[in-house]
Amino acid sequence: MESYKIQQHKYDVVVVGAGGAGLRATFGMAAKGLNTACLTKVFPTRSHTVAAQGGMSAALGNMGEDDWRFHFYDTIKGSDWLGDQDAIEYMCREAIPAVIELEHYGVPFSRTEEGKIYQRPFGGMTTHYGKGTAQRTCAAADRTGHAILHTLYQQSLKHDARFYIEYFALDLIMDSDGVCRGVLALDMAEGTLHLFRAHAVVLATGGYGRAYFSATSAHTCTGDGGGMVLRAGLPLQDMEFVQFHPTGIYGAGCLITEGVRGEGGYLTNSKGERFMERYAPNAKDLASRDVVSRAMTIEIREGRGVGEHADHIHLNLMHLGPEVINEKLPGIAESAHIFAGVDVAKQPIPVLPTVHYNMGGIPTNYHGEVVRKVGNDNDAVVPGLFAIGEAACVSVHGANRLGSNSLLDLVVFGRAAANRAAEVIKPGAPHKDLPASVCDAALANFDRLRYANGGSATADIRLNMQKIMQKDAAVFRTGETLKEGCTKISQTFDSFADVKVSDRSLVWNSDLIETLELQNLLGQAVATMYSAENRPESRGAHAREDYKDRDDAEWQKHTLVAVDDKGKVSFDYRPVHMYTLTKDVDVVPPKPRVY
Ligand SMILES: Cc1cc2nc3c(=O)[nH]c(=O)nc-3n(C[C@H](O)[C@H](O)[C@H](O)COP(=O)(O)OP(=O)(O)OC[C@H]3O[C@@H](n4cnc5c(N)ncnc54)[C@H](O)[C@@H]3O)c2cc1C
Repeated sequence: MESYKIQQHKYDVVVVGAGGAGLRATFGMAAKGLNTACLTKVFPTRSHTVAAQGGMSAALGNMGEDDWRFHFYDTIKGSDWLGDQDAIEYMCREAIPAVIELEHYGVPFSRTEEGKIYQRPFGGMTTHYGKGTAQRTCAAADRTGHAILHTLYQQSLKHDARFYIEYFALDLIMDSDGVCRGVLALDMAEGTLHLFRAHAVVLATGGYGRAYFSATSAHTCTGDGGGMVLRAGLPLQDMEFVQFHPTGIYGAGCLITEGVRGEGGYLTNSKGERFMERYAPNAKDLASRDVVSRAMTIEIREGRGVGEHADHIHLNLMHLGPEVINEKLPGIAESAHIFAGVDVAKQPIPVLPTVHYNMGGIPTNYHGEVVRKVGNDNDAVVPGLFAIGEAACVSVHGANRLGSNSLLDLVVFGRAAANRAAEVIKPGAPHKDLPASVCDAALANFDRLRYANGGSATADIRLNMQKIMQKDAAVFRTGETLKEGCTKISQTFDSFADVKVSDRSLVWNSDLIETLELQNLLGQAVATMYSAENRPESRGAHAREDYKDRDDAEWQKHTLVAVDDKGKVSFDYRPVHMYTLTKDVDVVPPKPRVY
């Protein structure tokens, strides 16, 4: 192994990631007097959060009656009773001050006639515990993520946090006692290695949508935090739950926000029929995402798809008129024009369910602290390690996330992590001396990939993985295809031992970076496929054709999955938190989930 020179930095906290979650945590920690660094592989405002369109939920009640307790109920039902109810209570209550805080920070929300924050209806969001439709999703036209991310970045600059931009985090530095002591990173521009010592590392690295062939996520969504956690020997949670968004543009995969249906758009099949009326008589096109994606898949399967190959569905917004389109959905009109060649005022948009969000991730409590199961303790904290945002599984989304609950999750738990860090860390506390060998494992992995000289190109292994995930861990799953998927994804995992990196440079070496990202993706692809095979029930986004019903007696529990460096998978379980933090809400017991 080459002997690498490592520059050392010392901070109270290091945040990895500068999307909505990472930025909210970064300036929250800096504001509390903690010496804070934020590492990010892309420029902060290029994080995937910038692409969020539809909005952020909060029961403000600006456009009709609403209550955070309705939001609490909807989120539990949306999660198909896999979400932790204490965390959901915390998020839905905190949503209201969180949005007001964003407004005061300067997010340019769309407005009502009276100047209040504009709110649109979104799937699964109701009033009176499923009876009415709530207008709960706060929007800045169809560019809400863009508005929020830029505002959060401006706030970060106002505070005294240090940014390390275009630094790629390689691995966590774990002490022999199981405490996280920092993170090793590569400065991609200079080609130098850096050890960031910290009393807490916060993983805010986003989702791993790019494990699939067709995803709405950016190419940077490679689940690097989850990969680092698996290499540290820690488990991930609920990885079988992958959300397919009903309306990705056919062929291109780009997202058309649920806000289109919120504003009155609807889906039709080849007969011109509004088929959602049959599948969800009350909520119709605004049923939960898993429900709509399944309905579309069935329509196509039964021969009622549109187009030459009868393999997609139409999303209609012609009837909305130019005013609504220009004012509320300008970005959508542009995307549909560029990626589908469609004028939305005259033609329907061709759409197909597309991978969109990972409900699973790094298990945490509602303070953002990473948890693991130790003996009888299901919620033991991993000292020095936090996870937030899409990288984490709090779990507030359970088996299916409601649209607009993710932007909310980012700011609520980004702030919660900052509050917790300020409680447990004393600013300027000295760092424990570590043995010189502490980076050895991380360096060995890095060096091995840098000099990898096998017979398979990174891009080929990645394409194999993506096609297997797309085919075998899809909207509908069966035991047979999942078994086959496990065999194939394990073979692909093994083939990574034969990867070839052709560029040995440390400076701007995209071949090396993509290979590091692929390693992270592969661990999570294996975790997803095996967890799906392991769960013999249908719940939320996990729809098994051989086990059509939810099995609360056996399976109302979180899956913990570990994947070792040989690709060996092991399982454990944690109970779902069926309790609340206060008496303001009652636990919602499991019920059939109909919309
Ligand atoms: C197209 C699209 C539209 C969406 N619309 C909505 C919506 O309207 N409402 C809603 O609630 N949700 C929406 N979502 C979901 C939501 O936007 C995401 O879940 C959320 O933005 C994720 O934010 P994050 O902060 O966790 O991660 P990201 O925004 O993905 O940021 C990840 C950060 O981690 C950094 N990073 C990653 N790996 C490394 C590494 N190895 N080293 C250093 N840095 C690293 C990256 O540089 C980046 O800064 C949408 C998602 C997509 C894809």
